[in-house]
Amino acid sequence: MPTPRTIAIDGPAGAGKSTIGALVAERLGYLFLDTGAMYRAVAHAAMRRGVDPDDADALGRLAREVRIAIGPPTVRDGRAYTVLLDGEDVTWAIRSGDIDRVVPQVARVPAVRDAMVEQQRALAGNGRVVMVGRDIGTVVLPDAERKVFLTASAAERARRRGDELAARGEVRPRQELLHEILRRDEIDSERVVSPLRPAEDAVVVQTDWLSVGQALDKVLRVIARPAA
Ligand code: C5P
Repeated sequence: MPTPRTIAIDGPAGAGKSTIGALVAERLGYLFLDTGAMYRAVAHAAMRRGVDPDDADALGRLAREVRIAIGPPTVRDGRAYTVLLDGEDVTWAIRSGDIDRVVPQVARVPAVRDAMVEQQRALAGNGRVVMVGRDIGTVVLPDAERKVFLTASAAERARRRGDELAARGEVRPRQELLHEILRRDEIDSERVVSPLRPAEDAVVVQTDWLSVGQALDKVLRVIARPAA
């Protein structure tokens, strides 16, 4: 397989980006960076410190202040990676329903995005990276050699999110999850800076009827295709 330097995987909440991205990275021996975890960590810090999610200046300052480190799993509890926020392990804390609700508000602040994008570009500097998020192919790494936009219907994404939470012992009504996913899609897609949308040169992969293995195969085929 040809080896692209950078692979960008974008898509809406619950499309399977993290699962597929981590598997692609493992298969190729690349670094995996889930940029959603970075925005979640900032949202977590904001909630902890009582920063108003509508106070863009305070959020921007906070995003520059906190130290976020994402690395290999330090505990064997099903995590794909460990997230440290100022040295504290927040890997699971940033996956809560509260964070799901507040993170799109935090992520739409331009100063927050500037701080995160700077770090993401630095991490991709050496190449051999699979980066997943919302704006990787469009803004963070517009020159990525392979771009995939992974998507699925909102109903399917809500179902997956429900299964994921249930596996961790948190049972939530499907309708509520669907509502939250639609709200998050709306804020992520309609924000002024770096809205969620496929890059013009991204290959869209629809995963509704695909198992994880089938989606992975499809994405690996896209990656293996020589650049046009
Ligand atoms: O991918 P995940 O669901 O963990 O992302 C959480 C939130 O972080 C998204 O809903 C979005 O608001 C924000 N995000 C973003 N840009 C990225 C990755 C995530 O705005 N590249």
